[in-house]
Amino acid sequence: MSNYEELQAGPIFPLGDKVAENFLGDAYLKRLYAGKEPLDVVIGNVTFAPGARNNWHVHDVGQILLVTGGEGWYQEWKEPARHLQKGDVVTIPAGVKHWHGATKDAWFVHLAISPGATTWLEEVTEEEYRML
Ligand code: MN
Repeated sequence: MSNYEELQAGPIFPLGDKVAENFLGDAYLKRLYAGKEPLDVVIGNVTFAPGARNNWHVHDVGQILLVTGGEGWYQEWKEPARHLQKGDVVTIPAGVKHWHGATKDAWFVHLAISPGATTWLEEVTEEEYRML
């Protein structure tokens, strides 16, 4: 049922530490790069347990997600959710309210390339998540 063994068979980046805020369910973050030079950006490896997702949020400069394993969702406010799997690339424009996370039955892993700041908003409710 769980695909975590599959992910462990081919890990790319470390799991990191459990994320305490702005997520529902169990999620882990390993910060791989955070600097000003040569690029002013944060690059993190984010791992979501089945059913885990982040709250609705906005990036003031935008964000790129590179999916490295599992199955997940990306959804912009008032738009249908996009199903994600290994190899997918998500381009998130500045100022667009959205969330990302795992499907209910699968682990999900992506790299998040984040220049600029993030504004965290409300949780993705069970009702919203169940409708996917
Ligand atoms: Mn985001």
